[in-house]
Amino acid sequence: MTKDPITSIVACNLCTGCGACAGSFPDFIKMVDDPENGRRPVVKQTRAGHEASRAAVATCAGASTNWTELPIRDEIDAAWGPVLSAWEGWATDPETRYRGSSGGAVTALSQFALSNGLASGVAHVAARSDDPRLNETVISRDAEGLRRAPGSRYAQASPAEAIHEISAGTEPVVLVGKPCDVASIHKATAADASLAARIPLTIAIFCAGAPTLVATNALLDRLSVPKNARLTELRYRGEGWPGLMQAVWQDNTGQEHTSEGISYAEGWGKILQSSRRWRCRVCADHTGAFADISVGDPWHAPPKGDTEAGQSLIVARTARGRAFIEAAMEAGFLVAEKRSRDVIAQAQPNLSATNGAVWGRRIAMRVLGLSPPEDRGQRLFSLWLGLPNKQKLQSVLGTWKRVLRDRLWRDVAITERVQ
Ligand SMILES: Cc1cc2nc3c(=O)[nH]c(=O)nc-3n(C[C@H](O)[C@H](O)[C@H](O)COP(=O)(O)OP(=O)(O)OC[C@H]3O[C@@H](n4cnc5c(N)ncnc54)[C@H](O)[C@@H]3O)c2cc1C
Ligand code: SF4
Ligand code: SF4
Repeated sequence: MTKDPITSIVACNLCTGCGACAGSFPDFIKMVDDPENGRRPVVKQTRAGHEASRAAVATCAGASTNWTELPIRDEIDAAWGPVLSAWEGWATDPETRYRGSSGGAVTALSQFALSNGLASGVAHVAARSDDPRLNETVISRDAEGLRRAPGSRYAQASPAEAIHEISAGTEPVVLVGKPCDVASIHKATAADASLAARIPLTIAIFCAGAPTLVATNALLDRLSVPKNARLTELRYRGEGWPGLMQAVWQDNTGQEHTSEGISYAEGWGKILQSSRRWRCRVCADHTGAFADISVGDPWHAPPKGDTEAGQSLIVARTARGRAFIEAAMEAGFLVAEKRSRDVIAQAQPNLSATNGAVWGRRIAMRVLGLSPPEDRGQRLFSLWLGLPNKQKLQSVLGTWKRVLRDRLWRDVAITERVQ
């Protein structure tokens, strides 16, 4: 049997792990946690499995997106996707702000969606209670459920798997995810009007890349969590901005221990980020161009310590997103001040540099016979031209080095192993 298209997308390093294919065809496609390669789909190798895989490609933003569908008006939109308006702000509820990754804005907007009747559920990811190193997709229907949401999980997660539950029900559901998750939801709703009617709003978090389980295990080693301990909590962000990375575990007598908390700079910079998969390094949308609303860190006004009261950068991508943000402020769920439309570039210098490098990385892939993702109509070349010459060269030469080092021409094969 020849390879089906979803298995090929995974094999060629194009899969982001969003879960849309599995959510659309749960009888034939299943997401599995592979420690090195990430949470990825595995397709049943039957005729019906291959048919499902062929149909699922329509929902897959890992392989391709179409920026010509977006209303790009100027250079700001061309670089970041549509930016209608931008604010800096935080959740009015002090606990939501405290527990949030930056200012708790995503959770505050989710709370507002449930309270104003826009949706009766919010699909988001949360740590698995049986193994908090891993994430699961849940639909929260009340404040208690949303208490599982705050705080970024710097680990693999597939919120677009929620397509299955959303399609099976009749209720409207807001979807929260990374830019790649939301881009797949955008494709799925464009192809299915009844699904579109059930997802009245999407919220994307900014994302520099999702670390693997191997990196999570390295973080637990750094936090001195014993290998045979029962992990009960693992926090990457939140409890102040940006918050400390910290674990709670039980020893074999049932006694609870709390690890030291290490800074975001150490945890992300020295342990987690190096494990990001190649797909994240050629990602052309780190800020949620296909969402109604996207939210990130306003790093241009950085926190003074590790745990000060947080702030979120909130971007309206669509008219319905902007109306919803304004209504959330009016209803007292969100406190926010308007910022200029070019604030993302000020707040995210790292992501600006990454976006600039993508064209060089993808060209280097092509020259080596590898297939990069296709983002039709996105002006990656002009972003690359804006880089200093040294970085232009690095984007190409660095890719060649990486391809050789990681032997990226080999097929990615997924095995479910949770170790
Ligand atoms: C892997 C990763 C990389 C990131 N990189 C950047 C970056 O480079 N620049 C930047 O400004 N911000 C980045 N963020 C986003 C940032 O950490 C905050 O999530 C964002 O500012 C929103 O904060 P908040 O307090 O408003 O959200 P909160 O109220 O804390 O809500 C966070 C929401 O994000 C969801 N979520 C958490 N982890 C994941 C995940 N892995 N996949 C899908 N959904 C998830 C939760 O379910 C929750 O709904 C990243 C987040 C992740 C998970
Ligand atoms: S990117 Fe998403 S839809 Fe595409 S193969 Fe991966 S999990 Fe499936
Ligand atoms: S970097 Fe891009 S592809 Fe990778 S997890 Fe983030 S949004 Fe998805």
